[in-house]
Amino acid sequence: MTFKDLGIAEPILRALQAEGYENPTPIQEQAIPILLKGKDLLGVAQTGTGKTAAFGIPILHHIYNSNSNQQGKRRIKALVVTPTRELAIQIGESFTAYGKFTGIRNTVIFGGVKQGKQVNTLRNGVDILVATPGRLLDLMNQGFISLRDIEYAVLDEADQMLDMGFIHDIKKIIAKLPPKRQSLFFSATMPKTIVELSRKILGDFEQVTIKPQQATAEKVEQGVYFVSKPNKPKLLVHLLQERPNDSVLIFSRTKHGANKIVKKLAQADIRSAAIHGNKSQAARQKALGAFKEGKLKILVATDIAARGIDVEDLALVINYDLPNISETYVHRIGRTGRASASGIALSFCDKEERAYLRDIEKLIRQEVPRMPEHQFIDGDDEDEKTEQRSQRQQNQNQNRNRSRNRNSNYRGDHNKNRNRSGGNRNSN
Ligand code: AMP
Repeated sequence: MTFKDLGIAEPILRALQAEGYENPTPIQEQAIPILLKGKDLLGVAQTGTGKTAAFGIPILHHIYNSNSNQQGKRRIKALVVTPTRELAIQIGESFTAYGKFTGIRNTVIFGGVKQGKQVNTLRNGVDILVATPGRLLDLMNQGFISLRDIEYAVLDEADQMLDMGFIHDIKKIIAKLPPKRQSLFFSATMPKTIVELSRKILGDFEQVTIKPQQATAEKVEQGVYFVSKPNKPKLLVHLLQERPNDSVLIFSRTKHGANKIVKKLAQADIRSAAIHGNKSQAARQKALGAFKEGKLKILVATDIAARGIDVEDLALVINYDLPNISETYVHRIGRTGRASASGIALSFCDKEERAYLRDIEKLIRQEVPRMPEHQFIDGDDEDEKTEQRSQRQQNQNQNRNRSRNRNSNYRGDHNKNRNRSGGNRNSN
């Protein structure tokens, strides 16, 4: 199957060729014909499957075909709502790339920056708007955006939006959409709330499901190292020193953890940067830009900040912490081995994370290969030592507290006595 077989307009075909896309990915092959027919779509798929092009190409195709007789100021005909700024920017870039010979204009709006530039671009007129929910509602409330002319509405990464607390914003946005439209709904997972939400936006729809194990396990080479928490930095430094020229994305469960990793790497003379919610938008964009250009080889990210990261030639993903939500693992390793490439994902697993590993293996229905012994392997010994140390520390603290309590009890009694005698005095 080729893109030409799908019946896509010529200028878009040319752009896809320029991008180096030869064949549609499975989600594109299945979703594009449905969308070209004008039907609604429920896509159960994650980033990394090529889903941006799966919805972007038909939207461009429709707008291109109806644009030829357009006069006057451009109206916003397509809206894509997505949870993070990074993802929004990337979707905007995709529309620009696939639509570069069509004359169709898109813009991206997101919070955390001043609105002036975004408002100016909107005033000049755009055909496609990519937005994060908060800023979109904000500009709608200020009267800068109207959804009146929307013909194509896309809700992207719906489960992530739910996790990030955007559900009410999303409902408000859906309520403002014109009833006659084509709706597209994408989510990597389909918990009950998401199914309910999808019913609110979709009319008569068709569903395409790209299973995570199809998207990842087949293409990404995986491995897990059993390593104690204190040994994780040493193992990380060792692995990075082995491959000085590779672009590596390291995942940390917490913002604080991400900063700590950067610090540990700096101590070993390895340059890296962290992106997470506490960093300014400018700092995040700068780090991401340098990483994409290959000037910065190592990026440390939290899950939410990494949602939109799409880097060509990302050789390696390292899960410094294993995620406690198994789907997150699939999202993470999907950063490497994008659409047509193959990649490697290595995970560090300490004793407390073994249960997470079991859940992940259940989800992806395969065992993550165990990496051969390494010099920092602790196995249980080191873990046990750490545990014994912390147990000893706990016992010491408990003893200290007990004796402190004894003392304070004594003081309490003493005070009580004093009060009592004081009371007596007062009553005298
Ligand atoms: P997405 O899932 O939309 O984030 O896309 C994942 C990556 O796959 C992006 O880097 C796209 O540029 C790339 N991609 C999308 N479709 C194709 C295709 N048909 N052939 C090759 N690469 C693609």
